[in-house]
Amino acid sequence: MQSVIPQAAAPEAVSTPGAVTTFHELNLSPALKGQLDVLGFVTPTPVQAIAIPHGLEGKDVLATAQTGTGKTLAFLLPIVQRLMNQARPRPVDADAHPAIRVEPAKAPRHPAVLILLPTRELALQVEKVYRDISARFLPKAAVIMGGASENQQIDALRHGARVIIATPGRLEDLLKRRLLKLDRIEVLVLDEADRMLDMGFIPAIRRIVRQLPAQRQSMCFSATIEASVAHLLDEVLKNPVKLAFGSTQKTADGVKLIAYEVEQTQKADLLQRVVKQQPGPSLVFVGTKRRSESVARKLTKAGIEVALLHGDRSQSQRVRALEQFQQGKVQVLVATDVASRGLHVDSIAQVINYDLPKIAEDFIHRAGRTGRAGETGTAITFHTALERREIAQLERKIQRKIERVVIGGSELAHEERVRPVDTSKLRLMQVPQRRSVNQSGHSAGRSPYSNNRGPQKNDNQGGRRRRNQGGRSNNGGSNQNSSAPRLMLEGEVLQQYDAE
Ligand code: ADP
Ligand code: MG
Repeated sequence: MQSVIPQAAAPEAVSTPGAVTTFHELNLSPALKGQLDVLGFVTPTPVQAIAIPHGLEGKDVLATAQTGTGKTLAFLLPIVQRLMNQARPRPVDADAHPAIRVEPAKAPRHPAVLILLPTRELALQVEKVYRDISARFLPKAAVIMGGASENQQIDALRHGARVIIATPGRLEDLLKRRLLKLDRIEVLVLDEADRMLDMGFIPAIRRIVRQLPAQRQSMCFSATIEASVAHLLDEVLKNPVKLAFGSTQKTADGVKLIAYEVEQTQKADLLQRVVKQQPGPSLVFVGTKRRSESVARKLTKAGIEVALLHGDRSQSQRVRALEQFQQGKVQVLVATDVASRGLHVDSIAQVINYDLPKIAEDFIHRAGRTGRAGETGTAITFHTALERREIAQLERKIQRKIERVVIGGSELAHEERVRPVDTSKLRLMQVPQRRSVNQSGHSAGRSPYSNNRGPQKNDNQGGRRRRNQGGRSNNGGSNQNSSAPRLMLEGEVLQQYDAE
């Protein structure tokens, strides 16, 4: 357990309920404090120190803080404390009510807490923290998410789960089939709210929230909250205590930022080199699912042990990939953005953006996978000469300098550059209209880092939602709108289509 934690700047406009320096100073029960001791949690992070007292008072909370600042415990501790209080109901005073037959008090067995989050991985991670802090006192949580056995999830509800940890899609599915009810929910949490909004979950969240009692506590925790999501949060939260810790538009200070300018065809070789130079764990982000598979294959061929994580893999494959990486059985995890938010793997030495992230927020989240809990790390970004502008825009947005390294043309992949085109591999391919993207995986003609994010959607829920690239690609100067078949080299990286 790391004891050094990032010191976020003082929050704006909050009534600070006194400086708390240990968990023992919080208004938690001795049993819960003891459990935190066992787990090795001593000093609350700033977001925990300030949000937990408000949460314990039952207030609505809206908190934004950088990744890795301990938001999970900030909402779970007040929840676990509330449920522990309910698990030991006050005995009925038989003397005061002699006419009433006194039944032995029973602990309630209905779900009272709903935690909504964007991805299955995050759901499992929050469940793990919940289990760690509550296992001795409370029933198991029900994790409701796509890609896992539905029966098991329903069983957990039957066994008296008091907490539902869910992704919106599967939860709505069960609600529609009347397999569970939310009419006795007392606490709602939206974790990674901005990401859920990005992923097009707004309508589902609205429908779910409508089924909750109006009288409830709501807490929204997120790394970034933009104006575009504020109106939904307005609907969900009532007079929330608003906490903002530091600039959420920045990466953790402990993360060193480097950009390598390379030719597209050199990326694979550069990746091998970068991974081999760093003996620690590397997390590699690739723009699309299909491309992530090809990157993983090339690394494996080069003798590097790799696990692969993307939205089209089965739940068991995804869990196994994460486990292998977390347990150090493989050095490299190759992933699409499904892994960029909320996940915590101890001591990732470097994050490598094989492709530029589509938006600056994704960069912050990707880079946020390293340098967590006060450790240092490196975030490396590969880009082509054409993408220099994006790197400069990114620097402005995150207000950090990114060290530039230009990889000389002769240094890498010499053979590849001089190799003649193998015409046997040429074949006709129809370029799908509206879905064509440029070499870095995002649509042409528009900066991925402009403030207006457009109607972008992402899919981390097993391919249910499609990325709306068409909406952003019409102002490209190239032949994006042509429906004529184009001659392409099979495996050519200059045109990449999402494998969704
Ligand atoms: P966030 O949700 O803000 O990105 P997490 O809740 O996932 O952050 O926490 C990040 C890491 O920091 C986890 O490994 C967690 O165990 C650790 N952590 C959280 N709170 C503390 C604390 N008070 N002291 C030490 N480590 C902590
Ligand atoms: Mg989190």
